[in-house]
Amino acid sequence: MSPRVRFAPSPTGFFSLGNARTALFNWLFAKHEGGKFLLRIEDTDKERSKKEYEESILEGLKWLGLDWDEKVERQSERIPIYEKYLKRLMDEGRAYFCFCSGEELESERQAQLSQGLQPKYGGRCRNISKEEAFKRAEKENHVIRFKMPSHTVSFSDLIRGKVSFDLDLIGDIIIAKGFDSPLYNFAVVVDDEEMKITHVIRGEDHISNTPKQIAIQEALGFSMPIYAHLPLILGPDRKKLSKRYMDASLRDFKDRGYLPEAFFNFMLLLGWHPSVDKEVVSAEEAINDFSFKKVQKGGAVFNQEKLEWLNAYYLRNLPVERLAEELSGFVPGEWLEDEDKFKKIVQIERERLRHLTDFRDTADFFFVLKEYPADLLIWKGSSKSVMVDNLSFLSNVIRGIPNHELWSRENIDKYIMSVADQKGRGEVLWPLRVALSGKEASPGPSDILYVLGKEESLKRVEKALKRLASEN
Ligand code: GLU
Repeated sequence: MSPRVRFAPSPTGFFSLGNARTALFNWLFAKHEGGKFLLRIEDTDKERSKKEYEESILEGLKWLGLDWDEKVERQSERIPIYEKYLKRLMDEGRAYFCFCSGEELESERQAQLSQGLQPKYGGRCRNISKEEAFKRAEKENHVIRFKMPSHTVSFSDLIRGKVSFDLDLIGDIIIAKGFDSPLYNFAVVVDDEEMKITHVIRGEDHISNTPKQIAIQEALGFSMPIYAHLPLILGPDRKKLSKRYMDASLRDFKDRGYLPEAFFNFMLLLGWHPSVDKEVVSAEEAINDFSFKKVQKGGAVFNQEKLEWLNAYYLRNLPVERLAEELSGFVPGEWLEDEDKFKKIVQIERERLRHLTDFRDTADFFFVLKEYPADLLIWKGSSKSVMVDNLSFLSNVIRGIPNHELWSRENIDKYIMSVADQKGRGEVLWPLRVALSGKEASPGPSDILYVLGKEESLKRVEKALKRLASEN
């Protein structure tokens, strides 16, 4: 049977890095195996689950291109299914109502701790007769507990190898607050079975839940999925990654100007290594190459510099149409009116970008030339009169460059460089570049001329000359 995996986030916070990495590894495995990647929203915690968090999860998955199969399942819409299995466990005496109060449980816990014991529920309500329990449940607050067996369970984790747990240490866990409100460990088991999940791929923080889930599977006669627990994501200090990053919403990374391709690549390397030693890995390569054999057991270190490097790499190397599409979300609407011009600017500016957010500030002069000090036009060590001469000369040269099809980047450059070779590079290229951009740093003048066109470029050179003339 081809694998069926699921990404099962709880919508109790914005879509985070930790979640996204889990989703990615599930997706890669499914794609590699030709299986299905399912999405299940685990919204049984009514107080903490919010629709806006669910939306942020869906939006983040779409941003990363992690498309899911079949319909989105929501636990809140599956209550009758859980109820059926809860009743079955109750009927079979494998679960029971517990009436212990919070205070009673706490004092039991303290007593165990003071004796140096690992706290677990002592089983006070385990032996109340079914009849009495149902009667009391009509009036008294209660939860449903699972009768935890006392044997050892083992599973073979695809990343960590054989893992065993002694169930006796766990005690009877609460699996529901009532028939209509199941809790995580129970709902997961039911859903994984009903959704025919073959592989459970999730963060290592869930490993202590696995024996509980296996015990419930055994009680219900379900089959055990194959497990793979992904390594924790660590900070640069090799301690657990700070909440600032771990819980940072993917939207924050997007808003800070990271490309989805770069972020995807970055997350791939959070625990997985391609079989050929390299850092830049496309989605397609990762799908072909993915294997749990190459997932490390030890923590995966979050390396901000690598993210920066990858982002700059993808900014330089993505097809220009694709980059223009991403940049379009970061610029004023007017910039997009002339698509051809916009793409030319993207092509010219991409080398200098580190984040998509840089573009708005670096490329603004293509649309509006801001005021700049006349002094800025003067090449260091040179003089105003030389600048005036050179700009006047350039103005004539520019006027003489053939227009239309011959207004090409290469042709323009030939004209400008021949002037620069005669009169000195700094003395020519600097004032021209400042006249065209109004900035201390910008792409080279031929690139700017090419995008602005002859008429606008000449206007800007005239403006520079006026500025120099009025400056005494
Ligand atoms: N809902 C759980 C979480 O968001 C994940 C459950 C699982 O993968 O088994 O952490």
